Amino acid sequence: MDAYTLKKKKDTGELHLFKGKMTQEGCTSGNISICKMMKKEENEKNIFACKNEGEARKECARNGRDVCGVCVSNLYTTYE
Ligand SMILES: [Zn+2]
Repeated sequence: MDAYTLKKKKDTGELHLFKGKMTQEGCTSGNISICKMMKKEENEKNIFACKNEGEARKECARNGRDVCGVCVSNLYTTYE
């Protein structure tokens, strides 16, 4: 199952989503955001981590306009 983590970018305060996989020990997250505009090293803090798609949608809605639109749109589109 996919896992989503929302990270805050250091300099800009933008929030970007990272996609990973749920595991027994928690979840993984990619080295680069879904939109490819933020790297893991630029993370200031996690807003949330290890959410499934439905939960991630809700949490992103709560954070509103600070969340990257490209990343969020991925939650509403299935490419597979
Ligand atoms: Zn993004």
